[in-house]
Amino acid sequence: MSEQVVTINGEVIDVNSFNEEAWNDLKKNYVVGNLKMICCNSNAIPKTSINFKKFFAHQNDECKTAPETIWHKTTKRIIIDELLNQGYVANEEQKGDKWIADVYLEINDRKIAFEIQQSPQTLTTYLERQNKYRETQIETYWLLYQPRYVAITKAIKQRILKELNSKLPQGGTFPSLNNLPVFYIDDKDYRVKGVGLFNYSVKDFLSSLINNKVIFDKTWRIR
Ligand SMILES: [Zn+2]
Repeated sequence: MSEQVVTINGEVIDVNSFNEEAWNDLKKNYVVGNLKMICCNSNAIPKTSINFKKFFAHQNDECKTAPETIWHKTTKRIIIDELLNQGYVANEEQKGDKWIADVYLEINDRKIAFEIQQSPQTLTTYLERQNKYRETQIETYWLLYQPRYVAITKAIKQRILKELNSKLPQGGTFPSLNNLPVFYIDDKDYRVKGVGLFNYSVKDFLSSLINNKVIFDKTWRIR
């Protein structure tokens, strides 16, 4: 069961973009095999639940794919698809000198990588990997599975407290580092979220980033 599928042309379709009429239209007119589940590429069937919720179901059986894998694949598809909507062709699994980016694109002289991080890693590893990108002038943005984000935010907070000798400045401080742009993608609504009530659609996040509006000012925010 999923709110998104991918068409055989590679376009992501989200149930939330359908009104009742369009949804009924799709249910009547789709061709089996033209809609694929993002999680495992099996055929997807548009359905409506008894409480009127729109969703896509696997044609056969339930999916065996783990939730974090579904999250990773869905996030990657949504990012690539939205970049394409905005006129940019991104590469998947782009290999560099000491890195492989989940999503990578170049815009004029800017090189941008997205790491879609599903497995746990320490703050030190995040910073090391970020440095490898920085050495080759690549801007890198981390989009985490929520449990990883909770963990890394705690680690950042501890590091900041240690640097401040456990004395917080007046008015407090955000658990954010200016050399690590890190956010999470909510696996319920697939919005980009973070500390300081950061909460944007993938569309708004990406267009802001492309227009140099994602900045660090006490925490990561969009100006
Ligand atoms: Zn599946």
